[in-house]
Amino acid sequence: MPWMQGYPYYLLMGSVLSLYMGVSSYKHRNTPGRRYLWILMLLVSAIFAATAGEILSLSFQAKLFWKNVQQAPLFLSTIFTYAAIKEYVSRSSEGLDRRLAFFCVPVVLDVVLIFTDSAHHLMRSEVGITTVAGISGIMVEPTVLSMILIAYDQLFGIYAVYLLALSLLNAPKYFFKRNLLLLAGLIIPVISVFFLPLLKISVTGFTAFTYLPPVLAAYLSLFRDPRLSLYPLAKIKIFENMKDGIVLTDRYDSIIDVNKVAETMLSALIGEQASSWEGRSIYHLLEHYGDIASYYRQRVEGQFEVEAPGTMDVCYGVSLIASGRRETGPSGMLIVVSDLSEKKRYERELLYQATVDDLTGLYNRRHFMRLVQKYTIREGAGMALLLFDIDDFKLINDTYGHIAGDQALVDLSGKILAVYKDNGIAGRVGGEEFAVCFFTGSERAALAEAENFRAIMSEHIVQLDGGHSIQLTVSIGIAFTEHSDITFEDLYREADEALYLSKAAGKNRVTLGRKPIIREAIKG
Ligand code: GH3
Ligand code: MG
Ligand code: MG
Repeated sequence: MPWMQGYPYYLLMGSVLSLYMGVSSYKHRNTPGRRYLWILMLLVSAIFAATAGEILSLSFQAKLFWKNVQQAPLFLSTIFTYAAIKEYVSRSSEGLDRRLAFFCVPVVLDVVLIFTDSAHHLMRSEVGITTVAGISGIMVEPTVLSMILIAYDQLFGIYAVYLLALSLLNAPKYFFKRNLLLLAGLIIPVISVFFLPLLKISVTGFTAFTYLPPVLAAYLSLFRDPRLSLYPLAKIKIFENMKDGIVLTDRYDSIIDVNKVAETMLSALIGEQASSWEGRSIYHLLEHYGDIASYYRQRVEGQFEVEAPGTMDVCYGVSLIASGRRETGPSGMLIVVSDLSEKKRYERELLYQATVDDLTGLYNRRHFMRLVQKYTIREGAGMALLLFDIDDFKLINDTYGHIAGDQALVDLSGKILAVYKDNGIAGRVGGEEFAVCFFTGSERAALAEAENFRAIMSEHIVQLDGGHSIQLTVSIGIAFTEHSDITFEDLYREADEALYLSKAAGKNRVTLGRKPIIREAIKG
């Protein structure tokens, strides 16, 4: 066949082409999904070059030398095919270098044995020259050990095919075509190992050509198309730098993509540090959150707010978003986790400011009123509203100053809270006026309670900065009702009137208000 005369030069052209692809892919070596391809391309280039060397050499020794030189790139190319595909489908090369170094140990052993004259026979039982179609190269009869090493090496190729095929299940349409092309290319060297002997193709260097389709497919689809090389890169950058956590699961509920923020958030949500979430089942998270799990199981979209366990105020918003399209069949979900802690803190702060009096820490007038209006009187119990006003408070301000007056108000409020923390609601309803609402059995009990409170207050000594201590008294008005249809305004009016009477009668005393009348009864 006349065209076979150019055979070694075809090999050299293959070498130059692979070298060109390897060198021009080198600049993409830090691009996720493309980190190992340049090495693979250079290895293929070396296989071509060494095979050409084997054929072009005239002496047996020189041919054998080139044959031996091929061994390392041949073995390594399969391992780096695995590395390239693994990194391409997972976009992570974490720990891969270390694994690769480990996987290459048998390759080193193989190469050392081949190049060591005394151990040479362990790998090859027979070496000779074979000439097929005018091409003469080295023919070797491998030993069992050599066959084992070849089988070991081929496992990487098969596994790479498996990984790529698996990625087709989850790949979006755009990536699907590309991955299919890569798979079609990759399958050629992997299956040719089994098929070339069956087809009785034994031309030296044919194996080198089988590597051309995958590297060409990778080069054309991953480096030549500017859309392909730029667009995913920008997307990955956005994905990695988002402040929201993004988790993508596949139809089998495994996490197939997760950004850095999400890794931290998911760990916080389960309350333990997990090294990596990729590849894990999403139920590792969802087993802690039953309501989200039931939505997820049915692939129903929804939004949730969850608090990280063991933290004071770390709150996350979790959104479940359908990721598949109907025509592609069952799929996983997209889970977006956003940190709501700051927003929640702000909301709490606003709520606090709207409901609590700055100075004393008691409920402010508006909130006190709102809370009491929500109180419903239980069967057989009554409700008492106790209003009180500090006696001659102006005098405190005049004598010790406004700041001392403030201090007295704070001190007194602490005392009120201590008394009514667990059995009523207390609020500051005016400058030096306070109110307490509580449930009590009867009018008499309410009066006794108010009298008791007045006594406690009059005995309480307020320590002022500057060494002064003062004793304050309070005048109290109390209103009591057993009817749930009495309006709060009526109850308040009666207590206020009673408070006025206490003041008028000489202060430091309790007056029971009239029972408020039910408005409906007046109308009737
Ligand atoms: P009475 O026994 O009749 O209640 O006399 P009083 O002096 O307590 O009552 P009056 O209504 O005449 O004065 C209330 C005083 O309370 C006037 C005001 O300056 C003072 N006051 C109100 N709010 C505050 C406050 O937040 N801080 C201080 N230091 N004083 C306040
Ligand atoms: Mg007063
Ligand atoms: Mg007053």
